[in-house]
Amino acid sequence: MRVYISADMEGVAGVCAWQQVEASGGGEYIRYQRLMTAEVNAVIQGALKAGATTVYVNDAHGGMRNLLAENLHPGAQLISGTPKKLGMMEGIERGFTAACFLGYHARAGSPGVLAHTYSDVVHRLQVNGQEMGELGLNALLAGYFSVPVVMVSGDQVLAGEARKLLGEVEVVIVKEALNYHAVRSLSPRQVKEKLLQGIARALEKKNLKPLPAPAPATVTIVFNDPARAAAAAILPRSRRLNAVTVVYTGTDYLETYQALRSLIALAKSG
Ligand code: ZN
Repeated sequence: MRVYISADMEGVAGVCAWQQVEASGGGEYIRYQRLMTAEVNAVIQGALKAGATTVYVNDAHGGMRNLLAENLHPGAQLISGTPKKLGMMEGIERGFTAACFLGYHARAGSPGVLAHTYSDVVHRLQVNGQEMGELGLNALLAGYFSVPVVMVSGDQVLAGEARKLLGEVEVVIVKEALNYHAVRSLSPRQVKEKLLQGIARALEKKNLKPLPAPAPATVTIVFNDPARAAAAAILPRSRRLNAVTVVYTGTDYLETYQALRSLIALAKSG
């Protein structure tokens, strides 16, 4: 059994401010690196106990150098650094039994803590007309490689997104978002227990199916301002629908996923 983990940081228990998830936050950031690593370790431990033979962990937050290698459970291999062609999903491929999304956050415009979609330049985003955040975008990429997402963790808003999109997925709610910058959180010790139990239950389920990846796949991105949209629309084969909206249609979802990341990178530079 091969298990893939994509680990973000905003959805880690206790996190409620950008300073806690950015290196410029100093000591506070270092504390949350430890807490993020501990959450990942709980899932590695649980996956190995359930029979996993290979566990890949992809550091999927910001510069993707957050997890503490020296503290990582020795049963897993760590993918870190950026740029990576598949970004938050680097290392995913056919043959993985299951994927887990840890420390994830809700999509841009939702009431989740630190809710966003890749960047603050994105107001909202759709794939083939359906609203998506990072959870959905990455679950579709797992689906493209025929890998089901079996567990996610984060706040209650992220949990709602996951249940709506992925049905029977195991959801571990580590905190309640009170607003964009405030949470009521479980303690890290309790979260560790919940993650251990969650991954055990998740890997027992036999009926979870990969999310079908559409082909062709159209991504529609509404940016926060026209300057961002103008910069994004430099990407060949993109179309600008109006002042703030850019659309791209790929022949398959992998192409669309890479195009959307390129559109956002261009927008950030503009
Ligand atoms: Zn993040």
